[in-house]
Amino acid sequence: MIHVRTIGVLGGGQLGRMLTLEAKRMGYRVVTLEPFPDSPCGQVADEQIVAAYDDARAVGELGARSDVITYEFENIPLESALLLERDGRMVRPNSEALRITQDRLLEKTFLREARCPTVEFAPIRKPEELDVALADVGLPAVFKTVRGGYDGKGQWLVRSFHEAAAAVEDARGQALICERFVEFDREVSLISSRGADGHTVRFPVTENVHDTGVLVTTIVPARVSAVIEEKVCEAARRIGDGLGIVGTYCVEFFVVGQDVYVNEIAPRVHNSGHFSLDATQISQYEAHVRAICDLPLVEPRLFAPAVMMNILGDGAGDDLAGIDDVLRDPDLKLHLYGKRHAALRRKMGHFTVLGRTTEDALDRATRAKAALSWTPPLRTKAIAVALES
Ligand code: AMP
Repeated sequence: MIHVRTIGVLGGGQLGRMLTLEAKRMGYRVVTLEPFPDSPCGQVADEQIVAAYDDARAVGELGARSDVITYEFENIPLESALLLERDGRMVRPNSEALRITQDRLLEKTFLREARCPTVEFAPIRKPEELDVALADVGLPAVFKTVRGGYDGKGQWLVRSFHEAAAAVEDARGQALICERFVEFDREVSLISSRGADGHTVRFPVTENVHDTGVLVTTIVPARVSAVIEEKVCEAARRIGDGLGIVGTYCVEFFVVGQDVYVNEIAPRVHNSGHFSLDATQISQYEAHVRAICDLPLVEPRLFAPAVMMNILGDGAGDDLAGIDDVLRDPDLKLHLYGKRHAALRRKMGHFTVLGRTTEDALDRATRAKAALSWTPPLRTKAIAVALES
């Protein structure tokens, strides 16, 4: 059992922020490492080390100040995690989980070996492999960069050989994975938290709606059969055990009829688990803190059907209008991440609505979403009007 006073967090985004808020509530100190000053996580942490994720001196400093180090997104350089481990620091989840999940080909190969169902896939590490990959997988297909992609970035839907060749050209020499395009009924995910002793607790299965690769809505519990739920839980268990994860992790699935296919593993807290801050008695963030600090894990309990919606920037302005409207709903919780600039599709916040039924929660969440809009600050608007007149 380790004794933790300070938690180090690699990455300074909103997941780190919510993790930090929960860790602070539980009495821990938090230090984050993130290149952008005043980051969402840095705003609420005790300290932010402002440096690149691959700055060896800064990573060493994070290690020296922390009793355990975790990460809030999986694209931090593997070398930084390895460096910490070589220094004898405790990194949770371990660097091996990071190594596998940072590389879509390694990830899919691991899944195959762990006997978790995935869609057919083939590597396109160089353009000459294109023909074989298409022959193996067929069309339509989805090409994804093997490394570095998130929120639908670095992906191409390919319906013809011509589009496939264009995608390979667009990728400019980056290694790709070619996956069969799945006509799924739904996308679901499962958040689990696993302790160092292997004991694992599960959150309710969630149903996720994406818009061009970015999560927009999560519905809890997912509207799926008991058979699907069982398959999802079994795959997630194999994954957690196979990677030896200590902490919260998420597995995303496609549902087709009564079958499930693992799409992706995130060895960290996840956007589709935001609901747990307000809809379960323990959040994915608290569960993560407990797991990495060797504290007991308890089974999450859902209070009521819930719907989480992301609030994305649209480039129209940086002020969020309509907050006074949505806060009239007594069962709506609003979370904003302290980001100044609401760039197009940037995740700026989210809200969760608890309902009497799923339909009720969905209805009210949809209304709340419609009431929110981005506008330029009032002062800017006044100047624009003055300039026009
Ligand atoms: P990913 O970055 O792999 O999670 O992909 C982002 C989103 O793109 C997924 O949540 C799906 O909505 C869609 N997508 C990814 N891969 C496939 C696939 N093989 N077939 C159909 N849709 C996909």
